[in-house]
Amino acid sequence: MERLSMSVQYVKGVGPKRATKLRRLNIFTVEDLIYFFPRSYDDRRKFSKIVDCVEGEKLSLKVQVINHPTVLRPRRNLSILKLPVKDDTGMAYLVWFNQDYLADSFRIGQVLAVNGKIKRIGNEVQITTPVYELENSSKGKIGRIIPIYPLTEKLSNNEMIKIVGNALKDNLNQVVEVLPQEILEEFCLMPVKEAILNMHFPTSGDEFHQARSRLVFEELLILQLGLFLINNKNKSDNLGIMFKKVSEVENFIKSLPFELTGAQKRVIKEIEKDMECERQMNRLVQGDVGSGKTVIAVLAMIKAWKSGYQSVMMAPTEILATQHYETVSEMLKNYDVNCELLVGSLTSKKKEEILQRLKDGKIDVLIGTHAVIQEDVEFYKLGLAITDEQHRFGVKQRAVLSQKGLNPDILVMTATPIPRTLALILYGDLDISVIDELPPGRKEIGTYAVGLQMEKRVTEFIKKQIREGRQAYIVSPLIEESDSLDLKAAEELYNKFKDGAFKGFRLGLLHGKMKGEEKDYIMQQFKNGDIDILISTTVIEVGVNVPNASIMVIYNAERFGLAQLHQLRGRVGRGEYKSYCILISEGKNKIARERMRIMQKTNDGFEISEKDLELRGPGEFFGTKQHGLPDLKIANLFTDMDILKLVQVKAHDILEEDPNLQKDKYSLIKYKIIKMFKDKIDNIVLN
Ligand code: ADP
Ligand code: MG
Repeated sequence: MERLSMSVQYVKGVGPKRATKLRRLNIFTVEDLIYFFPRSYDDRRKFSKIVDCVEGEKLSLKVQVINHPTVLRPRRNLSILKLPVKDDTGMAYLVWFNQDYLADSFRIGQVLAVNGKIKRIGNEVQITTPVYELENSSKGKIGRIIPIYPLTEKLSNNEMIKIVGNALKDNLNQVVEVLPQEILEEFCLMPVKEAILNMHFPTSGDEFHQARSRLVFEELLILQLGLFLINNKNKSDNLGIMFKKVSEVENFIKSLPFELTGAQKRVIKEIEKDMECERQMNRLVQGDVGSGKTVIAVLAMIKAWKSGYQSVMMAPTEILATQHYETVSEMLKNYDVNCELLVGSLTSKKKEEILQRLKDGKIDVLIGTHAVIQEDVEFYKLGLAITDEQHRFGVKQRAVLSQKGLNPDILVMTATPIPRTLALILYGDLDISVIDELPPGRKEIGTYAVGLQMEKRVTEFIKKQIREGRQAYIVSPLIEESDSLDLKAAEELYNKFKDGAFKGFRLGLLHGKMKGEEKDYIMQQFKNGDIDILISTTVIEVGVNVPNASIMVIYNAERFGLAQLHQLRGRVGRGEYKSYCILISEGKNKIARERMRIMQKTNDGFEISEKDLELRGPGEFFGTKQHGLPDLKIANLFTDMDILKLVQVKAHDILEEDPNLQKDKYSLIKYKIIKMFKDKIDNIVLN
């Protein structure tokens, strides 16, 4: 294996200069180069006939030179070299620009293999700046599948092909098989050397797919085993708090104005069991918008409080934190629990006072935004750390929160469910509970996608609803992550409606640039029914609860992801009234139309998030970087989900058989795991 870890400089044809260029592609060693796979392929195997040439297509042809080339000079800086050629179906010209020196390269009667883009001018067929070689040449630029590498400046694809070819020729035999023979056989996997060779220089589509699947399998297996190992380690290492079994939990459930759903009951049981056990709880609760996660959090808080511990709950926005504070205080009003709200907009006097009381143990439940993980926040005895809408926070923030106590139990709640296969990867260190049932009586939200030409009908419909006593949200166009442009769009819409379609109605404007108190003031007015129509940027996206609101209108809906649209839609349909979501979309492309179609078709958050993943891919959906996962060289967590499923089952079996990977046959896998995670996780100690 030593040769593989040598500097790439020593590969034949590289040298110090090219090595510098390769470094920019993160290629440092021979091994890096061997595992630097093409980003796509140019299939030049099939030869077309001149008669079949279609404008704009890139094709390979076998042609014979029929005359000397001509050189035209239409402008001072332009020369055009035209070489007449034919095959048995017609004639064509090979055309080069400013390459007069090629004029002497051809002889009449020569047969050339060429590949290039077709241009048709009248009846004339041209192949512009083609790649060419003599028929049966050993160069192999045409007549086979050509790898296309991701490139850096001043390093051409041809150079890359040559360098990679040399690296493989001299070093491929050094690559060792990481997977034990029995796994190769069980899953019919191609041997690793063959796979690497076929990734670079596939001879057929089939070979390529087999090669790729094999390498994906290996990469995912190493990833998944690594995550499982870290997970197990965390589990056995971190002794947590053993909370008491308390009767208040039962009493609280009985006092609720509604019956808990079966799913809620199940999840509460899971949480209680975790909390009572000595191991630290690390649980993710996934449940669609409106499935009733808050009450579950409150139950956990009661348990912590009764056992003598403090709880904290972190939410991504001030509005949401405030709302949680109100709901939770209300639910706990018959208990002797001290709740406080900690958000950025508090006066420093108020803040200091809260921090002091928190430290003295006079606050039992703290609810807030990022403010709760600031350095100056100290708890007296933190026992339970809850994060709401986890997808808005990174692993880091979650970790900081839990470090505010001594191995507090951790509860993470999200309304953005993901398929279990991916959850195992993204939240590998969490146990997962799913609330897969909505409280009874929830009505479907009627969803309609319309074009902008329907705007007038939409505003008329809104007015009708308001006259019946309801309220409406209008979400202004989303403008590429820019708060100030978002704000402008919201203001424009507000001004347009104020003196236009909604003259005489009470309008409110809400956006992310407002101070916390301003936002709260507007939200409060909307809640109180003092505002009929709230025009807003996406700041209302998460969790806000106004049961009287029955219409959600979203402008430029095509710019939102499905999960986000679903969240926005979840702002209505929270009361007894039939509710509507109107998606105004100008998106003509396929994905935009598909999104609108799915939104109209279903209200099921799980289905929607699966579709979202399918349409966007997991990178955009979740930002794997944010999750602290290692970079994957070849596998894609979503498109390779089928392989991931196989891998997860196998990884599980392997650890069952050999929990610390101590058997010889797994030693190389273990080595690879350590390598993959070396910068990511410092506590991965495999013995
Ligand atoms: P989410 O899961 O989106 O955070 P919430 O916890 O905000 O949902 O609950 C949404 C609404 O449903 C709240 O008004 C809550 O009181 C109510 N709710 C929760 N559980 C039930 C239930 N089992 N039956 C009826 N209503 C419920
Ligand atoms: Mg919620």
